[in-house]
Amino acid sequence: MIPPGETIGILGGGQLGRMMAFAAARLGYRVHIYAPEPDSIAAEVCSRFTCAEWDDAAAMARFAAECAVVTYEFENVPVAPLAALGNVPLLPHPRALETAQDRLNEKAFVQRLGGTAAPFMAVDSAADLTRAMAEIGTPGILKTRRDGYDGKGQWRIMSPADADALDLPAVPLIYEGFVRFFGEFSVILARSAGGNVHFWDSAENVHENGILDTSTVPANPRVAAQVPAARALAQKVAEALDYVGVLTLEFFATDDGPVCNEMAPRVHNSGHWTIEGALTSQFENHIRAICGLPLGLTTLAVRGAVMRNLIGDEAHDWPAILADPANHLHLYGKAAARPGRKMGHVTRLTLG
Ligand code: AMP
Repeated sequence: MIPPGETIGILGGGQLGRMMAFAAARLGYRVHIYAPEPDSIAAEVCSRFTCAEWDDAAAMARFAAECAVVTYEFENVPVAPLAALGNVPLLPHPRALETAQDRLNEKAFVQRLGGTAAPFMAVDSAADLTRAMAEIGTPGILKTRRDGYDGKGQWRIMSPADADALDLPAVPLIYEGFVRFFGEFSVILARSAGGNVHFWDSAENVHENGILDTSTVPANPRVAAQVPAARALAQKVAEALDYVGVLTLEFFATDDGPVCNEMAPRVHNSGHWTIEGALTSQFENHIRAICGLPLGLTTLAVRGAVMRNLIGDEAHDWPAILADPANHLHLYGKAAARPGRKMGHVTRLTLG
């Protein structure tokens, strides 16, 4: 067990790290952020900040020397440089990063555990793409295997003509069949070092242009009916990885049952409602899990909650948002409101 007062290291300096840091501070921990960007919004609320590239082994080793445990808020942290952390525990185990960083590995892993994924094929050339479209059909989505997020690195292919018009990027790709879904939802769980698993209520998620727009709990009953099967898969994933911390799996709800879209070995945007809407938030239980503390209850504390992301200029609406006293406003303190950038979120609770 890592007692309060010790320092937790967080790799990555975005809003997830910032909200993890708030939860850690509440439990009496100190937080040290490691991120390559000098304007880290997580570092602004922490006592220590190492601003260095991921492959700066000396900086990584100095960072580790000050931490009792290290975790991550960003799933594209390169795995090889993490060797410089030496004997300081890194949780969740980096095997979760390796699995989740490559969409091809991730889907194969989910299928090995008995889950369903969209039909997929690896694409490394125009000829591969032609073969994949012939095998899987159109419409489909071409995605970069690595480093994609918020709909970046994705191309919708409605017909082979779309593929002809594409200038294929010179990185490994994956072609996925388009899943006909009637809803999207996520399963978020926390697993303790001793193997206890707690699930939060599954939020129903709506995406706009590949970016999460809203997460609503409870999900509508048709979507909620798919949660038990999805949870069973998420639990298998957590056990297979001997996972410690918060793990997220995103699903499509289809007439044939849940189809797993992707996993994130971390706290997740679709779980932000848990800060006010659950007895223990995803951020607090992540900190508890990696420090070896008992987990808190994940039960819904309200009748319902709707979390809406504030993207780009939407964050400027904060006076109107605060004018509704049932709203909880979170602004991340990012300087530039670029289109598509997550600037904050608002959670509206419905009480019982
Ligand atoms: P991703 O980056 O894989 O999480 O995709 C972002 C969003 O794009 C998803 O939440 C879906 O709304 C949509 N999407 C991604 N992959 C597929 C697919 N194979 N079929 C249908 N919609 C998809």
